[in-house]
Amino acid sequence: MKVPLLDLKEQYKTIKKEVLETAEELFESQYFILGPRVASLEKEIADYCFSKHAVGVSSGTDALLISLMTMDIGVKDTVITTPYTFFATAGSIARTGARPIFVDIDPKTYNISPECLEDAIDSMPRTERERLKAVIPVHLYGQCADMAPILEICEKYDLVVIEDAAQAIGSEYRGKRAGSMGDFGCFSFFPSKNLGAFGDGGMVTTNSNDFYGKLCTLRAHGSHPKYYHKIIGGNFRLDAFQAAVVSIKLKHLDQWTKARQNNAENYRALFKHADMEDVVELPYEKEDRHIYNQFVIRVKERRDDLRRFLNDAGIGTEVYYPVPMHLQACFSDLNYKKGDFPAAEHAALHTLALPIYPELSDDQIEYVVEKIKAFYLKKN
Ligand SMILES: *Cc1c(COP(=O)(O)O)cnc(C)c1O
Repeated sequence: MKVPLLDLKEQYKTIKKEVLETAEELFESQYFILGPRVASLEKEIADYCFSKHAVGVSSGTDALLISLMTMDIGVKDTVITTPYTFFATAGSIARTGARPIFVDIDPKTYNISPECLEDAIDSMPRTERERLKAVIPVHLYGQCADMAPILEICEKYDLVVIEDAAQAIGSEYRGKRAGSMGDFGCFSFFPSKNLGAFGDGGMVTTNSNDFYGKLCTLRAHGSHPKYYHKIIGGNFRLDAFQAAVVSIKLKHLDQWTKARQNNAENYRALFKHADMEDVVELPYEKEDRHIYNQFVIRVKERRDDLRRFLNDAGIGTEVYYPVPMHLQACFSDLNYKKGDFPAAEHAALHTLALPIYPELSDDQIEYVVEKIKAFYLKKN
């Protein structure tokens, strides 16, 4: 049996007709960048995320970058984030000229630990604390970071909060949606995200009218009015075609999320039945809405062998992420070393993402669990 990590072709079948009709209309209009389709998607995403405004941008990475730029974060400044994330989170901080500061994760949820965050800020000398401008919590795998204490700490130290919600559209924390709790929420429409375009795309949400205005200006080179520049922006515009695709998909998102949640439940029941508690740790379960961008297990031992074994059995898996940010070659000048963030380092060595996409069948899920069981029961 084949169980790919992700199969977007199944999903495409269900929206193909609408996408092709919309594409034809759009090509006839020859209106490709920003415009009414982007504007209506912005309204839909703002509503969906319980945010006041949304600004369509070129990618999730650019969503992070433009949020930092809106706060004039740059050289001399520092920004705290997690070492256990996709590269873009840390990369966009560095690209502004600011220095990323890493803080370890909560080993249960893989999200930034509020305790470590507070300790890190408390132990900073005053001069360093004055340079600290923002915190970027990442809602990893589709589950919100522990935002209440994070927001409290950021309020106390007057820090901007930029939520990296690239993996978490629609996920909730105490009734609030990802991207609506901080000053900015950053979303990605990369095709493999839960709400993916047919190319690159992204969105920034904010509840602030001022930030909204500046985001719109920065998105088009800082031009306001046209050809007059008080600030320097970039080309961070979203294509009308990508907006149209995302808009069509958004109507299905809750149903797809439900299917992912059902698959997760299925995995949980099967693993429980398989009696592997001492080797396989399942994703931490909270009451809050988890949208399962990934279903990530942690195994005690032989993760890479397991991965090869599953691959040979036709099962796709992935490691998100094998190298924590503080150990990336490009950040060697930050002077971190192995051992600095034990929880992130342990996760990087022991986690494995299993297929969880909505169209997965019960048989496929059963097969995955069966094979994992076979691997650990195999004598060698
Ligand atoms: C995907 C992702 C991004 C970047 O989004 P792109 O649209 O690919 O630029 C940023 N942060 C996290 C956590 C992501 O998963």
